[in-house]
Amino acid sequence: MSYETIIGLEIHVQLATRSKAFCADDASFGGAPNTHVSAVSLAHPGTLPRLNLKAVEYATRLGLALGCEINRHSTFDRKNYFYADLPKGFQTTQDKNPICLGGALLLQGSEAAIRIHHIHLEEDAGKSMHDQDPQDSLIDLNRAGVPLLEIVTEPDFRSAEEVASFMAEIRRLVRWLGISDGNMEEGSLRCDVNISVRKSGETRLGQRCEVKNVNSMRFARRAIEFEVNRQIELLESGGNVEQETRGFDVGSGTTYSLREKENAHDYRYFPEPDLPPVVLQERFIADIKAGIPPLPRELEREFEITHRLPARDAALLTQDRDTAFYCTRLLEIAGKKDFAKPVSNLIINKLLPWADSTGTPLSECPVAPAAWIQFLEMIENGQVSASTAYQRLFPALLENPGADPGVLAAGLNLLQSADSGFLEQIADELLARFPDKVAEYKKGKKGLIGFFMGEMMKASQGKAEPKTATRLLEERLK
Ligand code: ADP
Ligand code: MG
Repeated sequence: MSYETIIGLEIHVQLATRSKAFCADDASFGGAPNTHVSAVSLAHPGTLPRLNLKAVEYATRLGLALGCEINRHSTFDRKNYFYADLPKGFQTTQDKNPICLGGALLLQGSEAAIRIHHIHLEEDAGKSMHDQDPQDSLIDLNRAGVPLLEIVTEPDFRSAEEVASFMAEIRRLVRWLGISDGNMEEGSLRCDVNISVRKSGETRLGQRCEVKNVNSMRFARRAIEFEVNRQIELLESGGNVEQETRGFDVGSGTTYSLREKENAHDYRYFPEPDLPPVVLQERFIADIKAGIPPLPRELEREFEITHRLPARDAALLTQDRDTAFYCTRLLEIAGKKDFAKPVSNLIINKLLPWADSTGTPLSECPVAPAAWIQFLEMIENGQVSASTAYQRLFPALLENPGADPGVLAAGLNLLQSADSGFLEQIADELLARFPDKVAEYKKGKKGLIGFFMGEMMKASQGKAEPKTATRLLEERLK
């Protein structure tokens, strides 16, 4: 019997606001434990929340980018539960009226769309550490109250690959929009994976399990694989899948039961009395919409379709906004010249490694974009060979960022010679030096042109411009 895998995600995105969701405490990652905490984060009696406008802006920005309907009137609720890293005894979240509804995202490199059920705003809890002290659990409340967006998808995924592709697209998008650093290692992007299986052809959904807090794509893959096999084995042996929350054990690559799924009423959700509804004006939404840059998917398509770049190049060039915008800028300067592939090669093979090694975004590269286009033109015109350009002129330009590439190449003696006088003289000397080869060539061994070109390069110290040199040699050999 074959089975189909069904997956839905609940993704937590930590927002890159300076302060927390409901108070002015520092929201940045790290810091000595319990230093980003005021009376509000500590939930002292009588403290009151005040909503961070930036968090609302970020939620709206993501919602618009994902084609969600922006809820003009959203509200906050209390989700009540007891845990030591949640001093208030409830999480402030949006249950009944979340800020974004619907929407969808296309998977990277595919036309398959994953529908989004809704996105809501909430706050993070503190962090419990059970492995720092032999006796006690330690609690760091720096993270308590940091704003999160929870993206809840429809159960539209059919494989771990689709999940990985979606997470990669979400990470690229939140970074692109400047609303989160999207860093999975630091927990800025976490996901709960809901998994069920059903027999092929079955239309109803199977019973699902939720695997909590899978914090890397590699683990998500392994957790899904394990869980799918576990559920299929259960069903095949006549058992039932129980709806429950499970954890993933990294060491063994297995999932284990944490608790039976809490029914929603266990949390006793009720409206948060201390926060008024969030009422969004049309003007506020329009301003945010106007500020959204062209999205990665659009630029990726433009690179691929308008500029006819290979899909792999288009994907690499749109991994981050800075690189993509830089590429767009170079292509604009190149104008009508068909330079897309050379521009792409220059960025992918040379400029991105330079940016990585120096920690400088491409937009801050000291060499002007127009100088890079001139650099590519010099290769195209044969003024400098591609290998000399990349090996010698490229680093020279970065060391002398203000210099004119032409002047710099001349100063370094890198220019190829298309000067016929100079090349004719070398060609004549060569033919005189190798009469046997000339004779062989004339008898039909045309491949010897390669030999003559090699000698030509040697004699000119690599400066012979190949097209002119070949033409001069062929004329003489006839
Ligand atoms: P709850 O309210 O219990 O959290 P939801 O209906 O909100 O449940 O769904 C939570 C997540 O589980 C969503 O991402 C949804 O896509 C996913 N999901 C729901 N049913 C299934 C199923 N049968 N198989 C896989 N995922 C599912
Ligand atoms: Mg849920």
